Amino acid sequence: EAGEALLHIEDLSVRYGKAQALHKVSLDVHEGEFVAVVGLNGAGKTTLFNAISGLLGYEGKINWHTGELSGRSVAQIARDGIVQCPETRELFGYMSVRENMELGGAHLEDGEREKQMAWLLGLFPVLQQRQRQAANTLSGGEQQMLAIARALMMKPRLLILDEPTLGLAPVILDQLSQALHKLRDTTPITVLLGEQNVTFALPHSDRIYVLEHGQIAWVGKPDAFGKEMGEAYL
Ligand code: ATP
Repeated sequence: EAGEALLHIEDLSVRYGKAQALHKVSLDVHEGEFVAVVGLNGAGKTTLFNAISGLLGYEGKINWHTGELSGRSVAQIARDGIVQCPETRELFGYMSVRENMELGGAHLEDGEREKQMAWLLGLFPVLQQRQRQAANTLSGGEQQMLAIARALMMKPRLLILDEPTLGLAPVILDQLSQALHKLRDTTPITVLLGEQNVTFALPHSDRIYVLEHGQIAWVGKPDAFGKEMGEAYL
C-alpha cells in the first residue's frame, strides 16, 4: 500500500513467560481501511490487540501516527484514538444501554455526546428500542452491538474489534454485518477486526492478514484470499 500507515507494526514479538505468543509480526493499517486479522483459536489475535492497546509489553515497533506506543498507558493510548472492543464485552450489566453508552462518551461535551448517541442509536436500531433496558438483560448479539456502540462513543480513530461474532446466532450475524456496512458508509472510521469467522470478515475487509501460531502466514485482498486460502479457511 502507498503512503504512510496510520498504524505501522514491525517485528512485534510477545511472550507469556517462556511461551512466545507472537513472533515478529508486521502489519500496517492505513487511514480509512478495514483490515481483518483471521486465525484460529489461540493464533494470537487477542495478544496482538492487547499489545496495541497497551495491555502487554512487547519487543519490536508499534508506531501510531503520533509516535511509538511503547511506554504509554492504556488510558493514554485510548485518548490518542485507539479503542479496543474486547472479546469479553465488559459491559456494566446493571446499567442501561444508554448509561453504558454515556460512559463511553464521558469525555465529550454534552451536546457532542448527545449527537454521537443519536447517530449510534440510528446505526443500531436494536439499541434504540432497548435504550432504557439493563445491559445484562440483552441477548448476546445485542450486548455485542452495545459493546461496539460504547466503543464508538469514544470517537476512536482506530476501532479494534476482537471476535465480535463469538457465540452469535446467524440472524444476529446479519444484523451485526449490516451495522458494520452502515458504519463504514456513514463515517470515515478505520477498523482492525480479529475473526475466526472468515465468512463474516471477508465482505467487510479491504485487506486480510492470516495469523497462524503467532506469525503472519499470508496477507492480501479478499479476492486473492478466496483463491489462495479458501480451501483452508472457507
Ligand atoms: P482466541 O480466539 O482464543 O482469543 P487468539 O487468536 O486471540 O485466540 P490469544 O488469546 O492471543 O489467541 O493467544 C495466543 C497464545 O498465547 C495461545 O497459545 C494462548 O494460550 C497464549 N496465551 C494467551 N494469554 C496468555 C496468558 N495470559 N498467559 C499465558 N499464555 C497465554
